Amino acid sequence: MHKNFKNIEKIVFGRGSFNQLDEIIAPIRKENDGFFVFVVDKYFEGKELENRIPKQAKDVVYFIDVDPKEPTTDQIDNLRDEVIEKNGMPSGIVGIGGGSIMDIAKASALMFKNEGSSVPYQGLNLIKNEGIYHLGVPTVSGTGAECSMTAVLSGPEKKLVLKCEWTVFNQVILDPDLTATVPSDQWFYTGMDTFIHCIESKSGINYNVFSQAYGDQSIALCKEVFLGENAGQNPENDEKLMMASLFGGLSLTYSEVGACHALSYGLSVVLGMKHGYANCLAFNHLDEFYGDAVNDFRGMVKRFNVTLPQGLSKSWTEQQITDMAQVAINLPFMWRHAIGEDWESKFGLEDIKNLYRRM
Ligand code: NAD
Ligand code: ZN
Repeated sequence: MHKNFKNIEKIVFGRGSFNQLDEIIAPIRKENDGFFVFVVDKYFEGKELENRIPKQAKDVVYFIDVDPKEPTTDQIDNLRDEVIEKNGMPSGIVGIGGGSIMDIAKASALMFKNEGSSVPYQGLNLIKNEGIYHLGVPTVSGTGAECSMTAVLSGPEKKLVLKCEWTVFNQVILDPDLTATVPSDQWFYTGMDTFIHCIESKSGINYNVFSQAYGDQSIALCKEVFLGENAGQNPENDEKLMMASLFGGLSLTYSEVGACHALSYGLSVVLGMKHGYANCLAFNHLDEFYGDAVNDFRGMVKRFNVTLPQGLSKSWTEQQITDMAQVAINLPFMWRHAIGEDWESKFGLEDIKNLYRRM
């Protein structure tokens, strides 16, 4: 069976396009109880962008601190319950921020129309009802969360996605100017997320021409941004990295991620590491999976003087290593993609533990 892929309904791209937000959501305002919820990264509180949010009297704005924790099921449930109790059912929700805020907006949009806790909905196609209108405005480039069918949530037991067609944004506004203030280390780690998406998408059995078309273009853009003559954070590269992120997301959605993301999930769940950083730590040790791309990655690390700690595993307990390996092995579709249909006969928990011991 070939994937029947749901894309974003509408996309605006270009510097300053955030100014179109008011006009874009105006026709949606008549839905439900006639107000919008804005979930905005706390970084923007008190900044110029706050005044540009097209807030009307009944609208609700939440500034959310996404550090150090990734979005949780409780956080989504509480937000929904509070909004419904105070204001009723929103017309739509707008997320303005990085991958964390994208996921909060996507997950909340679904949970406004699905009863109870979000925990039992973690997984594929478990959501029962279509959510409310949701619009994403990414302010960090790299995760591909702007186009993916997933909203990643940490629950009491697992870090797992709400994944279904209704998770995908109705609209995204890609305004590269909004990413200009991302701190350089964060810019690097999240930017590498997209590079790694494309390399993993490419290196496995699910790869196909659809994924290649988007992935190769994204890799080329990443190389300009991180290795080219004009490498670094600047307005031109902000545009390129934003498109690389979108294309990387489209590439992986029609293929799959692999060993690096499986290991990265273990690092996030057990040690609380953020996604982009955890990916970088893992990718640096995966030569046998990703070959020359790991050398390209090391070149980018060097170019931007990024320090990736070595010998970290010495401070991890055997139990932590086992727990991380358990998380990683429970992502069989990633290992199947990376190693092959018969991956379980070639590779097991002990091999995964050894990969962690290298870090
Ligand atoms: P993030 O959203 O966690 O933000 C990282 C940091 O950047 C935060 O401190 C934030 O305050 C700051 N920030 C955001 N925009 C800024 C700006 N313009 N200027 C200054 N600071 C800014 O980082 P991320 O790497 O974009 O997202 C990681 C999250 O995305 C994880 O929770 C991960 O699970 C999720 N994710 C989701 C998908 C998906 O498809 N749904 C894919 C990959 C990752
Ligand atoms: Zn990723």
